[in-house]
Amino acid sequence: MTMDQILENPSTVTLDTLELRVKQCARCPLSETRTNIVFGEGDSHARVVLVGEGPGEVEDQTGKPFVGPAGQKLDEVLASVGITREEVYIANVVKCRPPGNRAPTKKEMEACLPYLEAQIALINPGLIITLGNTPTQWLFPSASGITSIRGTFLPWRGGIQLLPMFHPSYLLRYPSRAKGSPKYLTWLDIKRVKKWLDE
Ligand code: SF4
Repeated sequence: MTMDQILENPSTVTLDTLELRVKQCARCPLSETRTNIVFGEGDSHARVVLVGEGPGEVEDQTGKPFVGPAGQKLDEVLASVGITREEVYIANVVKCRPPGNRAPTKKEMEACLPYLEAQIALINPGLIITLGNTPTQWLFPSASGITSIRGTFLPWRGGIQLLPMFHPSYLLRYPSRAKGSPKYLTWLDIKRVKKWLDE
């Protein structure tokens, strides 16, 4: 079955069978340097899907998304409003680690995008949180930079909304919690997500 067929009728696959397919993937050169694919994990019926850029070193080693220092920071952000990892789904634009933690190229992202599209179609969330500039601009090309667009609910497709937030690795670089700091703004944003979930 081709990816186009899967996207037209996602009920023909499950997340598990899609993951098996991705494990064999060699659609871009990142397949040559990866240790493990990092497919994504969480609730397969989650109302919220978080999308990052791509796996880092710890993720590549473990095959799990957001488990390194940035992942721990993400857990903290979610926990600050009582959201657990188990009730969301976490994925990346590319499923294999770009060497040296460089940004994925446009070609790599184009090659991998059908998998993310299929994951979103299968999960059918109400809200997608994009973490940082790369997934935001990739899923919503008309979005302005993350600093000005973060915290804004954007209408995406089929009733799904998209909310850009800072990438947790950015928060690691700016420890201040002062009003107006990245951490403070992220706390405002995650409270918006919690309010959306509660409604
Ligand atoms: S990054 Fe995506 S498209 Fe490239 S090899 Fe990995 S799974 Fe395939």
